Amino acid sequence: MGTAGKSLNPEGVPPQLDGDAPITVSLYDKWQKIHPLWVSGGWQTGRRVVLAILLLVFYLAPWLRWNGEPGIFFDLEHRRFTILWATFVPEEFILLAWALLIAALTLFAVTVAAGRVFCGWACPQTIWSLVYFSIEHWIEGDRAARLRLDRGHWNLDRIKKKVLKYILWAGLSFSISLTFVGFFEPIRELIPRILRFDLSGWEQLGLVLPAAGSFLLSGVLREQVCFHMCPYARFQSVMFDRDSLIISYDVDRGDPRGSRNRSADPASMGLGSCVDCMKCVNVCPTGIDIRDGLQYQCIGCAACIDACTDVMQMMGYGKSLIRYSSQNKDMGQQRHWLRPRLIGYASLILVMVGAFSYVLDHRIPLGLDVARDRNRLYRQDWDGSVENVYTLRIANRESVAREYSIGFESPLSLEYDGPKTVRIAGGEFTALPIRLLLPGTAAQTAEPADVLFRVESLDSPDVAIEEASRFHLPVGTMKSGGTK
Ligand code: SF4
Ligand code: SF4
Repeated sequence: MGTAGKSLNPEGVPPQLDGDAPITVSLYDKWQKIHPLWVSGGWQTGRRVVLAILLLVFYLAPWLRWNGEPGIFFDLEHRRFTILWATFVPEEFILLAWALLIAALTLFAVTVAAGRVFCGWACPQTIWSLVYFSIEHWIEGDRAARLRLDRGHWNLDRIKKKVLKYILWAGLSFSISLTFVGFFEPIRELIPRILRFDLSGWEQLGLVLPAAGSFLLSGVLREQVCFHMCPYARFQSVMFDRDSLIISYDVDRGDPRGSRNRSADPASMGLGSCVDCMKCVNVCPTGIDIRDGLQYQCIGCAACIDACTDVMQMMGYGKSLIRYSSQNKDMGQQRHWLRPRLIGYASLILVMVGAFSYVLDHRIPLGLDVARDRNRLYRQDWDGSVENVYTLRIANRESVAREYSIGFESPLSLEYDGPKTVRIAGGEFTALPIRLLLPGTAAQTAEPADVLFRVESLDSPDVAIEEASRFHLPVGTMKSGGTK
């Protein structure tokens, strides 16, 4: 399955027919595990540094606290999300969708500009695959040793190595799922509860599924995920243009390929610089030969660049035959940095980020919704006084408990009947019934009027919110206007 693309030429045509004799081409290619060669070099060092930083962020994030509050926490039970110490309640999930949209657009823009740099450098699947592969390489040895081990008989050495590898993989998988669940449950309380086997069914599932998923997808299947499961691998090619960054082989310098001694003169042999050593193929985590041209299986990891750099330096031929390039550059045409599609994406992202920042900056960590009973706008007492009833839904959008004062303004001399202050836990909301009363004498001559409710934080007076409503009166008592 994994190398099915290799049996077809770039146009998808089966191998050349021998005369008129029919040949059978199987569309099913048995999965053969890819054993990449371990490679070092400038690009791989860079990738490993990025990987270390991203892993550090992942593992530390659930532990980060400021004034006792987590930096990132998705509290499903109370339906509130905390991102960088800002708590969002369900009414604000549109902001989360907005942030995801900006992230998706950024990914599209990065793909147009830099090709599959996300796949090779920051995709979680690539990162975890590299970690699992590093363990495999450490236990079982490099490519030749791993091939020997897998093709050999089951003996004590093979059993020992496989068991040790799977134990370490299982430990890594558990650390991933524990950290993952730590984004949804307080991790400091979760670990002691795991040790006491005191977990709910959902928590057990939350620990087992991500662990099993990462073990299988990043450990066992690795490149198969990129080949067959990742939708981004399939549709990213439509985002490419002829100036997108790609990894490509320098045909002009490299071809014709052929092996030779280090002391041989390639020009006199009619050869290019490629010594056909296959090192670029052997280091490739997806097992492709980049010399065949751009292929969807290439995740842009740059391992082949470092591999060929080694070979070229050893031969004294200069820099790598494989490099970051673009289709235009490969054709000897001028490279354009500013392209309409890129400018379009960048402008859209700028507008969206600007608007998003404005909304966040003007976001009040307090929500107020004033609701009325639509079936009964007012109630008139025997003495002519009129009352209106409201329900104030107040949401504390901070992560800590706050106390609020409740007040109102109106041109009418209304009497207030309801709580003057309320304390609400972080991320929670409360619904308060409020009664406003207009005494009998005033109600005879009054007209319906606006009422402005105001809720103010007693801890930070600059945190306040207002919401307008209406005080209704019986139609017969009004001088004019009014709605019932
Ligand atoms: S590593 Fe370089 S020299 Fe060796 S086969 Fe690949 S392109 Fe040719
Ligand atoms: S062809 Fe090169 S850059 Fe692409 S996946 Fe293989 S090693 Fe990585």
